[in-house]
Amino acid sequence: MICFSVQPTTTKTPSATTSAAQTSLIPHNNLHQLSISSFPPQRHRSRRRLQVRAIDAAQPYDFEAHLVNRFVQSTKLKIAILGFGNFGQFLAKAFVRQGHTVYAHSRSNYHSIAQSIGAAFYSDLNDLCEQHPDVILICTSILSTETVLRAVPLQRLRRNTLFVDVLSVKEFPKNIFHQVLPSHFDILCTHPMFGPESGKNGWQGLPFVFDKVRIGDEDSRINRADTFLDIFRKEGCAMVEMSCAEHDKYAAGSQFITHTMGRILEKMLLESTPINTKGYEDVLNLVENTSSDSFDLYYGLFMYNKNAMEQLERLDLAFESLKKELFGHLHEILRNQLFGKIEEGGLRRPKLAKLPVNGTPLLLPPSESSSNDSN
Ligand code: NAP
Repeated sequence: MICFSVQPTTTKTPSATTSAAQTSLIPHNNLHQLSISSFPPQRHRSRRRLQVRAIDAAQPYDFEAHLVNRFVQSTKLKIAILGFGNFGQFLAKAFVRQGHTVYAHSRSNYHSIAQSIGAAFYSDLNDLCEQHPDVILICTSILSTETVLRAVPLQRLRRNTLFVDVLSVKEFPKNIFHQVLPSHFDILCTHPMFGPESGKNGWQGLPFVFDKVRIGDEDSRINRADTFLDIFRKEGCAMVEMSCAEHDKYAAGSQFITHTMGRILEKMLLESTPINTKGYEDVLNLVENTSSDSFDLYYGLFMYNKNAMEQLERLDLAFESLKKELFGHLHEILRNQLFGKIEEGGLRRPKLAKLPVNGTPLLLPPSESSSNDSN
């Protein structure tokens, strides 16, 4: 920035033949004096001197600094988080740490929590949308997603705003986005496969699943989606691009089963002992990890993933089969105790080497069956 001061002076003009105003910058006592000769030339004309009082130290670099600033701005997003509960706050901390602007909205009032994180809380969705965020991030419970999305005043947003979700099921939000959002909005479905407990020591190596469901062709829209994904890349997540349907298939067999086991074990009220094995420590950690998540989340994993019911049935069958295997062995021992003497005395009972798999007809070992046949 340059500051000028004007000093009117009266000087005798030399025979000036200039046909236009002349200016010159004269260094003087560490200041710069800018002289302006006015037109037309006069014998005694007033000469006004402009004195430069200060020059911004960074003047030669202003343009460069401006460019750098513009570049930095282009890598920063305005992210509006809808659903500022457990997981929303957890994500907001990372977004703020990486220099993004975070707006938050939730059913409950999280004004002071948002403030402590460095985010701005808007209890009115209209006000939030009028900030024209680049990204609307849906972070509500799975069960309330549709209601929350339908309440967003879409007309207050920029027409191509990017909608992202982080729900633990993926086909469901994808379908809701398609139903509710006009085609000019972009859609990115994601699932960070970690939470405030499992990701408390950093996200390095933790899987982040995403599906670019609908991203417009323009460079700016492609870059915006990539900039959002970069947040997780920079934190060291293992980025996995896969379809929402594939995600739900894998997640039912892994995440839903993990949560189910954690909740079953929680009901057993397990306690730490003075002789915990490493395996038991892992079991206690599993209980701690899953019990810190809301029941809404667990119920959402079940209700809104069509593969979950099949996995629950498989778990049930596996448990039944394991019990049968255990009780089968026990039965054999009891039989020996009860009937052993009689058998020694001559009455031979058929023996099964193994408990047959469910539904398989009982087959005796060949030697026994042939001896029985001969009876
Ligand atoms: P959650 O119980 O699944 O969701 C809590 C959030 O949903 C809160 O922001 C809550 O708002 C909001 N909410 C609940 N019922 C609502 C309703 N009827 N109307 C409006 N808002 C409602 O717990 P979460 O752990 O924070 O998870 C949030 C999302 O992230 C879920 O979709 C979950 O699947 C996903 N996710 C979670 C984890 C994790 O480890 N926790 C990991 C990956 C993805 P208020 O607090 O204002 O009531």
